[in-house]
Amino acid sequence: MSVNDESFSQLKSEIDAWVRGPGEEYANTIERTGSIPGALFGELKSRGYLSLAAPEHLGGRGIPFTQYLELMEIISRSHASIRMLVHVINGTWRAMEPFANDEQRENIIKPSVAGDTLVAFTLTEATAGTGADIRTTVRREGDTYYLNGEKHLITFGVKCDYWLLAARIEGSTGKDGFVALLVPNSGLPGAEVIDDSETMGVRGTDHAILRFTDTPVPVSALLGAEGDGLAVMLGGFLLPSRVSVAMSAVGLAERAQELAVEYANRRETFGKHLAERQAIQFYLAENYADIAAARALVIEAARAYENDAPNAGLLSSASKMVAVDMLARVTDKALQVHGGSGYWKRNAIERVYRDARAQRFEEGTNEIQKLIVARAVLDGTATY
Ligand SMILES: Cc1cc2nc3c(=O)[nH]c(=O)nc-3n(C[C@H](O)[C@H](O)[C@H](O)COP(=O)(O)OP(=O)(O)OC[C@H]3O[C@@H](n4cnc5c(N)ncnc54)[C@H](O)[C@@H]3O)c2cc1C
Repeated sequence: MSVNDESFSQLKSEIDAWVRGPGEEYANTIERTGSIPGALFGELKSRGYLSLAAPEHLGGRGIPFTQYLELMEIISRSHASIRMLVHVINGTWRAMEPFANDEQRENIIKPSVAGDTLVAFTLTEATAGTGADIRTTVRREGDTYYLNGEKHLITFGVKCDYWLLAARIEGSTGKDGFVALLVPNSGLPGAEVIDDSETMGVRGTDHAILRFTDTPVPVSALLGAEGDGLAVMLGGFLLPSRVSVAMSAVGLAERAQELAVEYANRRETFGKHLAERQAIQFYLAENYADIAAARALVIEAARAYENDAPNAGLLSSASKMVAVDMLARVTDKALQVHGGSGYWKRNAIERVYRDARAQRFEEGTNEIQKLIVARAVLDGTATY
């Protein structure tokens, strides 16, 4: 299924106009106040931007993945917190849906797609690797799990309604005994929520440190079965999510390039516009080629996912690797075009440069993507 060409191009124009108009005003407010205005959340919801990707039976608009990514590309030219809201809410259902029972689907997934319930992806720990290494545990007594451990860097972890939280059964190791729980953020006993939102970029989005001491969680909060946790947190979810982050890098790089072009056309030194200097033209040309190359790989990865191709996982990691490195180069050159002024907060490139850095961590660092790609290269499954 695809959205017909005319209505899709209308939707793209509508989102583009919103990003350039109200989106920029929200961006300025977020930077000034350090928080996301309630009205922004309401506006994204009422415009349907939080339910673009989910299928219709979950209340979403059912936009196919490749087309959805073209929309993410536009939204990512906006403030990173706006991009984060759209990316997270359009993606979290993918982790939950394959494992959810009817009650979880009705009470949590559908309200999340509708923008009424916020679910925070809660995996990372300060004292363990991100994956089967985690140390947060649950101990089962009757119909209750008692949760112990600590999470950090959790986006929306302060304000969310539920933490989609990874833990392991006490005493288990590796993948076995890994569980994913939908834990309500409702003042549970022994649950401490610490606001840890003072980040370099992605201002406005809240981030949490979470500490649990014998926190009782009903066993009905379990998604799937005991042992399914790794598949919930990393399985079907991360693959498309990495491609979405890769496309976010493309969108933000396009914004950086746009700002660099505007500035090069405006600023004069020694009687000529910067745009007339070959050194500056070379930066802009390199940026164009860099963005176009990464974009082509991201689209290929998106199609591979949509078609369930055997190399979809490989392309997902490869595209994220390439796109975030590209973003680092492009934002660096775009800032260079601005000269010293680009280092000042009054210029939009300063925020773009800071926001860009976060994307090298989201959905796994490049070091981890390289491990995945290298494995496929060495076992011969990485064909061209
Ligand atoms: C803005 C932002 C939002 C985030 N939101 C969330 C969220 O909502 N939920 C959530 O759970 N997490 C979130 N994270 C955390 C993010 O997923 C992690 O930062 C990322 O996965 C890296 O893990 P780490 O920070 O523990 O780094 P570490 O694992 O401590 O790694 C440190 C460095 O060592 C490298 N490294 C680690 N292990 C290996 C290895 N085996 N081989 C080679 N190199 C290795 C890493 O690549 C990195 O360069 C967020 C991070 C950021 C920056």
